[in-house]
Amino acid sequence: MRRFAVAFWLLAIVAPVAAHAQQSQPPSQLGLLKKEAITEVDKLQVLTQQMVDEIFSFSELGFQEVETSRYVTGILEKNGFHVERGIAAIPTAWVATYGSGKPVIAFITDIDCIPRASQKPGVAYHSPLVEGAPGHGEGHNSGMAVNVTAALVLKKLMAEHSLAGTLKVFPGVAEELVGTKAFYVRSGYFRDVDVVLGVHVGDKFATSYGIGEGTTTGLVSVEYFFHGKAAHAALAPWEGRSALDAAELMDIGWNFRREHLRLAQRSHRVITNGGDQPNVVPPEAGVWYFFRELDYPHIEELYELGNTMANAAAKMTDTTVDHRLVGSAWPQHYNKIIAEVQQRNIEGIGMPQWSDDDQTLAKALQKEIGTKVEGLKDKVDPLKEPVKEATGGTSDDVGDISWNVPMVYMRYPANIPNLPGHSWPNAVAMATPIAHKGSLAGAKVQATTALDILLRRELVVQAWDYFRNVQTEDVRYQSFLTPEDKPMIEMNKGTMDRFAPQLRKFYYDPSKYKTYLQQLGIRYPTLKSQ
Ligand SMILES: [Zn+2]
Repeated sequence: MRRFAVAFWLLAIVAPVAAHAQQSQPPSQLGLLKKEAITEVDKLQVLTQQMVDEIFSFSELGFQEVETSRYVTGILEKNGFHVERGIAAIPTAWVATYGSGKPVIAFITDIDCIPRASQKPGVAYHSPLVEGAPGHGEGHNSGMAVNVTAALVLKKLMAEHSLAGTLKVFPGVAEELVGTKAFYVRSGYFRDVDVVLGVHVGDKFATSYGIGEGTTTGLVSVEYFFHGKAAHAALAPWEGRSALDAAELMDIGWNFRREHLRLAQRSHRVITNGGDQPNVVPPEAGVWYFFRELDYPHIEELYELGNTMANAAAKMTDTTVDHRLVGSAWPQHYNKIIAEVQQRNIEGIGMPQWSDDDQTLAKALQKEIGTKVEGLKDKVDPLKEPVKEATGGTSDDVGDISWNVPMVYMRYPANIPNLPGHSWPNAVAMATPIAHKGSLAGAKVQATTALDILLRRELVVQAWDYFRNVQTEDVRYQSFLTPEDKPMIEMNKGTMDRFAPQLRKFYYDPSKYKTYLQQLGIRYPTLKSQ
């Protein structure tokens, strides 16, 4: 307590001098601070590993990240961050803040997992921890380990060296539903932010600028609800009007229309409600679509077309239809200035040292799923420049943030290459030394890049210049959300209520076990032939 008071008094006296000194900080000072940051990240190695393992064991789906958010905010609060919970009317969303003044640097990374992707870590074949349960088959469990480790180190350095600036840590809640970031933006949480340093798990160490990786799209996620009339399907089918017929006809119409859509579009759907049993004409049916395209006008066009198809299908079947927006995402666009700075830090840190065991696991899994067997990557990627002809691909609702503030989105090497994504193989490495080492390397780049921004104030000016005069020169952000749209916070609740009691038995207890592998009694790596 007393030490804090003295430190505060000292800070009050030296802060103005220090702030002035920062502007003309020689690069060598920055170099020394970066070195210190890397050493400090290494000192937090155990905490980083625990965060990776703990969040892996929680295995929580989007909007239901209750334990994950409680755990991470607990760590941040204990370390002097101020936490605001339930932001943008999303119970599991929050923002943790430390420091004051400019620049304001925000860190963001996803925390939700994938349905039916439960998998024992370190095991090179399908072996669920809990059959049918959600699991981290994307690797989002490692992102907070990266960002929180970096934030704790930065906080320490900022206090010790009287560096002005504000750190903000955000969770990507329900990213798999692209369900929250447009709401964060709408609620104004990025209005005062200067730069956003986002991270996402990958099998490579890489960053990019321009349209995210050249293979991304934006999207709207829309669920259509058809309403018909129930009747005995054998006794009086003519009295009924089938909502399921309408859902099927909409799908048929869409699939014929597909031939006449632009090549870059991606559209896919699941039937969320197909009726109850065959002898009841289904009075209710639901179909959930993702409409993806390269830019806002084309996404809006697909959305309109979807609505037209739904209305036409309702007409054909004498049913009615309404819809709700489940999620939305702008295509991503990343900042050139910050990406170039980050690239140098990635090259400075380099790839983690993989052990023979790490490579054995990677190759065995690649063989098991029938993909190219080449183990883990051993080189960082060069800075990825924007592709000339975008062909479409994945979406991420960080896109909305990237059109409101200069942002980068680094991939850190915590997973195995050539995996299918969104399924159990992507969970195999995610609570093993591969994820631990990759996350630690990611934290070093986050910390050193933030130091660049804290000490080289001209970078913020240049980043905003790119943002205003290149990125948004002839594109204006407008949200896909209408004022009536609300985050779908009830989604996944039923699934989590069903599986949480079984998953709870496998929650990681770092007070008893050094690693999650140890707690589960899994030999690393476990191969099929053993
Ligand atoms: Zn993701």
